[in-house]
Amino acid sequence: MNRFVAAVAASLIASTGAWADVTEDMLANDATMTDQVVTNGMGRHLQRYSPLDTLNKENVKNLVPAWAFSLGGEKQRGQETQPLVYDGIMYITGSYSRLYAIDVMTGEELWQYDARLPEGILPCCDVINRGAALAGDKVIFGTLDARIVALDAKTGDVVWRDKIDDYKAGYSYTAAPLVVNNLVITGNSGGEFGIVGAVQARDVDTGDLVWHRPVIEGHMGMLNGEESTMTGTLNATWPGDMWVTGGGATWLGGSYDSRTDTLIFGAGNPAPWNSWLRDAGQKDDGTGDNLYAASRIGIDPSNGEIKWHFQTTPREGWDYDGVNEVVAFDDRDGNQRLATADRNGYFYVLDAADGGFVGGWPFVKDISWSSGLDDNGRPIWVEENRPGDPAAAADGKKGEVVFSSPSFLGGKNWMPMAFSQRTGNFYVPSNEWGMDIWNEPITYKKGAAYLGSGFTIKPNYEDHIGSLKAIDPATGEWVWEWKNDAPLWGGVMTTAGGLVFFGTPEGKFIALDDDTGEELWSFQTGSGIVGQPITWEQDGEQYVSVISGWGGAVPLWGGEVAKKVSYLNQGGTLWTFRLPKELASR
Ligand code: CA
Repeated sequence: MNRFVAAVAASLIASTGAWADVTEDMLANDATMTDQVVTNGMGRHLQRYSPLDTLNKENVKNLVPAWAFSLGGEKQRGQETQPLVYDGIMYITGSYSRLYAIDVMTGEELWQYDARLPEGILPCCDVINRGAALAGDKVIFGTLDARIVALDAKTGDVVWRDKIDDYKAGYSYTAAPLVVNNLVITGNSGGEFGIVGAVQARDVDTGDLVWHRPVIEGHMGMLNGEESTMTGTLNATWPGDMWVTGGGATWLGGSYDSRTDTLIFGAGNPAPWNSWLRDAGQKDDGTGDNLYAASRIGIDPSNGEIKWHFQTTPREGWDYDGVNEVVAFDDRDGNQRLATADRNGYFYVLDAADGGFVGGWPFVKDISWSSGLDDNGRPIWVEENRPGDPAAAADGKKGEVVFSSPSFLGGKNWMPMAFSQRTGNFYVPSNEWGMDIWNEPITYKKGAAYLGSGFTIKPNYEDHIGSLKAIDPATGEWVWEWKNDAPLWGGVMTTAGGLVFFGTPEGKFIALDDDTGEELWSFQTGSGIVGQPITWEQDGEQYVSVISGWGGAVPLWGGEVAKKVSYLNQGGTLWTFRLPKELASR
């Protein structure tokens, strides 16, 4: 169906009130269909690039608010959702596992669903949610008590609910689910509680579990209700029984590379943070690498089998989760590539066929834990900058304190970067900060923090922490840098109109020139932006939406940085902007 026919069909359906199912075809083509946003990442390759150029460098100054929507509630916390737009309805999720359906033209609420959360949930890093998934006649999202809920997209009625895992053991869920071939695919959160990272696929229609793939070696997978294969090789890279509570939370969800039919999920830090407890005593022979924690993992969507992995931080010891989004793109020579910017401060380009290392470069200024990458992309450690072993301390209680950069909140955290098909560059939201970190003894206890570490985050520079960089994936070169006082914590979007959209904790929603980094437009949203912008067109006009509502991990865990930004006000408002037709040509 071409776009014109699709638009006519959609308007006919809207006028009769019937629901047209969100099909696999629509999900597969979301990156090029400009009248909808039905996937997290504006396409399952997660490029966050819109081919729309109605709004461009010349006329972005005429972008004006169309409507705003308050999430309400007494407890306004970090709002990290990416809105979805389909058939006249916008879907957003909010803090405390809420989901809203909103009339996309008027901003009026159609319905709201509040998950009934039990006492004793254990979200590590604010009560956020990063968005929903659309499939068929359902809108699906994960909740803080580690459940997944499918609602009727028209009415908000619950169709099915299922448990991802046990919230009492520290599991939770905050990422947007991913839908591929009628399977809804999720990861899990809880890496600070010694949970076991896993990826799960469920039938969209019934919620029945189809496969389960743990991402820590030694654990058994499931397929169609039966044991399938073990992940990795027992004790190949983990000493003793440490793999049993080995972490590796897959808490940011995943992408789907349609070119190779591969799901790509990242796995977080190995547990506990104290790396000496997971150290097999060798440095470079791989026996202490703790696979597949701090890795990107390619998975076969049909059966949950692991196809390949690329580990960014072997024997990880700084909370450098390897979860950050993997963006599928074609480079300027037409090679099929993957790109990812890691918590550890390196930007990697991988071969889409097998996850093989193509190139890697620092995307922050002061990496202290490693002096570079070798020919295979393996980090070259600076051993004296590894937090010391508490067992070697005089009292056996506190290992040597070291200063590490980036901080454990990462050169880049969850906030997604964008790729521009127009420039061929990536636009990476990063932060320039470090930390004092030390190790302590720790033993696993169900539902308790499992770190064995203490830490204090500090800014590296007086004049900025946040740093949005345009990065050339052929060379790792920084084409330009845009600095911000507070740490950046929201997503980025690019457009064919040559614009780079993002927001700041200070509340500004900004459009930059993709070639130069020059600020072309901004709007003060009233609270910090930690959400993810989208754009679409309707009735010949281009719209842009972003949610505003300061929160997330920085105020909770940011140490001296949290104190520096404690003046920022909370909020909870979805903003939608529009370029009026009569102002489009100016
Ligand atoms: Ca972590």
